[in-house]
Amino acid sequence: MKNKGTEEVSLLIIDWYREHKRSLPWRDTCDPYKIWVSEIILQQTRVAQGLDYYLRFIGRFPTVAALAAAEDDEVMRLWQGLGYYSRARNLHKAARMVAAGGGCFPQSYAGVRALPGIGDYTAAAICSMAYGMPYAVVDGNVYRVLARCFGIGEPIDTAQGKKYFSALASELLPAGCPGLYNQAIMDFGALQCVPQSPDCGSCPLEAKCVACAERRVEEFPVKARRQRVADVYLHYIYVRVGDAVCLRRRVSELPGGKKKPGLFSPSIWQGLYELPLVVAEQPLAPEEFLGSEDFGRFFPSDAERQSASVSLLRREVLHRLSHRVLHLNFYSVQLPPDSLSFPGFLRVPHSELPAYPVPRPIAALWKELGL
Ligand code: SF4
Repeated sequence: MKNKGTEEVSLLIIDWYREHKRSLPWRDTCDPYKIWVSEIILQQTRVAQGLDYYLRFIGRFPTVAALAAAEDDEVMRLWQGLGYYSRARNLHKAARMVAAGGGCFPQSYAGVRALPGIGDYTAAAICSMAYGMPYAVVDGNVYRVLARCFGIGEPIDTAQGKKYFSALASELLPAGCPGLYNQAIMDFGALQCVPQSPDCGSCPLEAKCVACAERRVEEFPVKARRQRVADVYLHYIYVRVGDAVCLRRRVSELPGGKKKPGLFSPSIWQGLYELPLVVAEQPLAPEEFLGSEDFGRFFPSDAERQSASVSLLRREVLHRLSHRVLHLNFYSVQLPPDSLSFPGFLRVPHSELPAYPVPRPIAALWKELGL
């Protein structure tokens, strides 16, 4: 494979970047730790939202040693609201591995790539920006720019397509400034060659761009498969036992060692705290849910179930994840202080709830309840 004009395309993208570069704190550093944190935060997150998180995170953990020494809950609390919590867990785990190995961040591509949560993209970003190594980043922005500019019909979600784009991205990488070029193409994709209706008239690649010349911009990049987005129905129960609230940490293991995770895998929001939960694959009306076996399991005693004061707090709150649409219902249950129902849950004093990292829909409930 040899695509015409790759060198010229790289130079045009770098020139564009010099003019349009966004001033961001991780741009002016060669500290691999800070570049790493910024890259992990910015995966699937807009810069405007990620910036605050980055500043808070680096403010609290300015070095890999500081992050390694932190408690799990504090890391998760600083991450709360960003989503994709496995990224925070891996960041923390990797920081501990670096600290255990003497505290020096790995200085080879293989060493960086071997850390948990660091894939090809992040390793290339860190190594090119921190160390000037010749590794090209390939993410959604890069796929889009290259597919459009060179008119590539190879699907981006097949092994063959990934290999093709990776080779093309490496071909575009200028020898003297790989870090600068990588940042340039990421910004170019984020700001100029945007997914919907890019302004091709103002684009420095317009004269070279195959998709633009053929008026097929919206057709690129090509995907082989459409990902299925499934609906999941979550019934959260806000249980007051006297003044305490029942809470539990989501762990990767299913209760009873069950293997099949179903549509709401424990890895989603793992490490955060949540209310007692019933997951369903079909919508359940309140009377169906309250009469269900799943709800009944929280009450070892039928008498207590019958005497509990139950009400519906919020109905059909929608929350979107990448491959799931969550439909959330929140119920309230009030129990006497000596209740034995909801065994296995922490009983957290109401005033201490804000200290626990929770998923965004539960944080929204806390806000509504005045916490
Ligand atoms: S001309 Fe349009 S489609 Fe082509 S690279 Fe520029 S913005 Fe993207």
